[in-house]
Amino acid sequence: MTNQKEVLQPLRPGKLGIYVCGPTVYSYVHIGNARSFTSFDTVVRYLRYRGFEVTYVRNYTDVDDKIINAAKEQGEPAQELAARFVREFEADARAMHLLVPDHSPKVTETIPEILALVQKLVANGVAYEAQGDVYFEVGKWPGYAKLSKRNLEDMQASERATTGEQKRAPLDFALWKAAKPGEPSWDSPWGKGRPGWHIECSAMASKFLGETFDLHGGGLDLIFPHHENEIAQSEAGFKKTFCNVWMHGGFLDLDGAKMSKSLGNVVRLRDALTQIDAEALRYFFLSTHYRSPLAFTDKSLADAESRMEYFYETLRKVDARTSNQDFGAGPLHGDPSKWVTDFEACVDDDFNFAGALGILSGLFATMNELMDKPPVKDKPMIGRTLKALRAVVGKISLVLGLFEDEPGAWLLRRRDRQVKARGIDQAKVEALLNDRRAAREKKDFAASDQIRDALKAMGIESMDTPQGTTWKVLG
Ligand SMILES: [Zn+2]
Repeated sequence: MTNQKEVLQPLRPGKLGIYVCGPTVYSYVHIGNARSFTSFDTVVRYLRYRGFEVTYVRNYTDVDDKIINAAKEQGEPAQELAARFVREFEADARAMHLLVPDHSPKVTETIPEILALVQKLVANGVAYEAQGDVYFEVGKWPGYAKLSKRNLEDMQASERATTGEQKRAPLDFALWKAAKPGEPSWDSPWGKGRPGWHIECSAMASKFLGETFDLHGGGLDLIFPHHENEIAQSEAGFKKTFCNVWMHGGFLDLDGAKMSKSLGNVVRLRDALTQIDAEALRYFFLSTHYRSPLAFTDKSLADAESRMEYFYETLRKVDARTSNQDFGAGPLHGDPSKWVTDFEACVDDDFNFAGALGILSGLFATMNELMDKPPVKDKPMIGRTLKALRAVVGKISLVLGLFEDEPGAWLLRRRDRQVKARGIDQAKVEALLNDRRAAREKKDFAASDQIRDALKAMGIESMDTPQGTTWKVLG
């Protein structure tokens, strides 16, 4: 509201209510939306990690013009189409490791609360009925546009009345729309109809979080009119502050333009996830501050996945050295808890997850240094320190939604994707590795080196580990 960073001061000690505007379920979620949902998912994870009891609400808009139009085009009943895309969204959210919110209300399940709020607004004199529609009268609400800081007169001038609407002023917006033939509708004091878009979030937020709550999130494109209208409805209805802090996520740019369904330049999340690992995509999203624009390019995705490969390779190495090993009690090299302190200080400042990933890089570099160039000769001390650092990674990764996989399994999946993408003949690779093993057993190192070079020419690097020989695709 102040366009500044704010201190998050819970309304109830130790508890936080968070509302995030969810998807309109008329098609598959695209990666621009996925970025926004991932940001808020990580915010919720972090606040819980910090000890808050968070109630997280993310809604589904399952009645809307877009849904009705898509249903007409596809010859499917609107409610079936919406229910189908709720299921598809849930599948995509699971694939992306998004937390399941505490409440995921749907418009179709919130009609009584919506009607009650619209009636309250009419009773309070800020809404009026016109031929079965009900509109919010912006001119009667002095606080309008306090979030977007827009100038009302400029807006009035640029707003054109849509035909068929009975508004008193161009900026008035629909709370309730009279039913049109063939559209989903419900009984109301103004005849059959359905809710306008904005009213649902006001009704749902108050239903699950109370008339005032802590934090509201959504994409930058929702500030106006959607969030502005949510504030107007809730504050004019309940006569209380709607929410204390707003967070708006930046856009994802594709080919220099904001990704949006209306522009048609969208990449569906599920298509992206055939090209890139879900955790690598999370890493990519988190690598830029949530408010800043993020450019989506093939190279940036490939870089994110290589980075994840480095992290997982490090974890595999650390695990091989430390699991099921007892290094005894004793001093550590350095202070592993400093990484936790640094991480928290970073994220406490406006959820700077990008900075947190930088700290994570430092932590992984330290683990590699301990293994490859140990600064002290005391092997048990190195072992204890590696174990302690590995525990820190575990703690941080729960917050970021990264490294939830077993390192070997993740690396194998990555290799399979690369093998497929580059058309590498896996049988040939395995045969060459067998030949190399045989050559080494015969101590024919010249032949072994020759085979290694042949593999390299195919883009394959063979690696000898304590667990035997394994291989990876280069680059
Ligand atoms: Zn909303």
